[in-house]
Amino acid sequence: MTQSGRWIRNFVDGEFAEPDGPGFPAVDPATGTEFARVHEADRQLVHRAVTGARAALHDGWADTPVRERTALLRRAADRIEARFEEFVAAEVADTGKPVTQARELDVARAVANFRTFADVIAAAGQESFVTDLPGGAQALNYAVRKPLGVVAVIVPWNLPLLLLTWKVAPALGCGNAVVVKPSDQTPSTATLLAEVLAEVGLPAGAYNVVHGFGGDSAGQYLTEHPGIDGVTFTGSSATGTQVMRTVAPRVRPVSFELGGKNAAIVFDDADLDETLAGLTRSVFANTGQVCLCTERVYVQRSVFEEVAGGLVERARGLRLGDPSAERTTTGPLISPEHRRKVLDYLALATEAGAETLAGGGIPEIGPEFDGGSWLEPTLWTGLTNKDRPVREEIFGPVAALIPFDTEDEAVALANDTEYGLASSVWTQDLRRGHRVAQAMHVGMSWVNTWFLRDLRSPFGGMGLSGIGREGGASSLHFYTEPTNVCVRL
Ligand code: NAD
Repeated sequence: MTQSGRWIRNFVDGEFAEPDGPGFPAVDPATGTEFARVHEADRQLVHRAVTGARAALHDGWADTPVRERTALLRRAADRIEARFEEFVAAEVADTGKPVTQARELDVARAVANFRTFADVIAAAGQESFVTDLPGGAQALNYAVRKPLGVVAVIVPWNLPLLLLTWKVAPALGCGNAVVVKPSDQTPSTATLLAEVLAEVGLPAGAYNVVHGFGGDSAGQYLTEHPGIDGVTFTGSSATGTQVMRTVAPRVRPVSFELGGKNAAIVFDDADLDETLAGLTRSVFANTGQVCLCTERVYVQRSVFEEVAGGLVERARGLRLGDPSAERTTTGPLISPEHRRKVLDYLALATEAGAETLAGGGIPEIGPEFDGGSWLEPTLWTGLTNKDRPVREEIFGPVAALIPFDTEDEAVALANDTEYGLASSVWTQDLRRGHRVAQAMHVGMSWVNTWFLRDLRSPFGGMGLSGIGREGGASSLHFYTEPTNVCVRL
């Protein structure tokens, strides 16, 4: 891990800055113990990062040929693979997630992000139109795409490396320079990535990392800085609102991947084994801390008892424990504060008359893990769409099961939310699958699966869940500005 002694440092203008204050702790959520100190960037260091990024653009990075930029992305992917277990260890230390998940999802996706965007950018073309003019003359219109410039990349703690590389790979591939602000709770992998990008020859200043918090800290200093040309942000809807306000006076483009309150709809003709396996992942993956996780499960009444019983059995079968053990399926929540928030929703659900079918308490993992933020996988019945635990994003290993009778009713219940990120529909009737999937007011609608991603397809949300899309060509659109050239022929 990139530490000088026990320090996780900022990476600014091609070098690690020496810590100059008390910093803040990097805490292992599985045990509650501090494993390093993190250097908090002050306003001046953030300024140096932004000006260093601008200088990198002027010094040639923005004009580097596409084939060189995409070759660099491929070398970064190779280098992450070469240092794979270091990234896995850093991700597990920061988040407490099971080592198998870090290997199979988080770090594997970081590699895939760099390779996919190298392919997408290498293959990208330009729009052009031949315009017929009165009298038979013509004009040629074509758009050249230029880098957006200095991009602020602000990411959360739940899938820190995956979400970071999802933005950094296309941003750099399009010729931008980035200043990254990881979550204060997951500082390690963004810092390790700085080493990797330097090793593969990225010019100084093109990738910067500033550590700290949101308001009155690195996040705010970065978004307030007049030298940034755009913000790509993943996090909560409330913070998104704040970031939008901050950049509004300077009219900077934003790409927002925000919260969700995602629904699954299970019809009575669904393959129940496949559905239960899919729902178990979609409710409990990463301890429910994925923006795409299902927190509302609508089940057709005739199979309600069977689905509820099957899901309870699978929830109880999850193996909470030492994140470094291969058999562990489920880690802790990210922090005591976040567990407090989830526990408050458990209390609210009980007040609203919920029946807790599974979980609802704090599990015993073992003395070594007593300081960790553990919570039992929890399932409720007896709630309705009016209740706050069914309306608000909880972001934990919890879901409400709610019966429905007709397809129209299921669609109306699922769409009865201000969020609009993701949904899944479980049925063997493919016509119905297509019909209901398209009727969902969301950015990503799955049929008989969940979190199956083709990185070339658009990703993002509607309503409170975000603004814009990233992925494939959508990322290229956000990370570039077109200049249309019109030539009279
Ligand atoms: P958060 O909004 O609290 O923080 C996200 C990032 O923003 C952090 O780096 C934080 O330090 C920074 N930040 C906070 N206040 C800021 C400010 N005023 N100015 C600038 N930066 C600021 O979110 P979180 O708790 O870290 O993450 C969980 C949330 O992220 C959930 O709501 C989840 O749904 C969402 N999320 C969305 C997606 C998606 O793709 N749509 C993916 C993952 C997580």
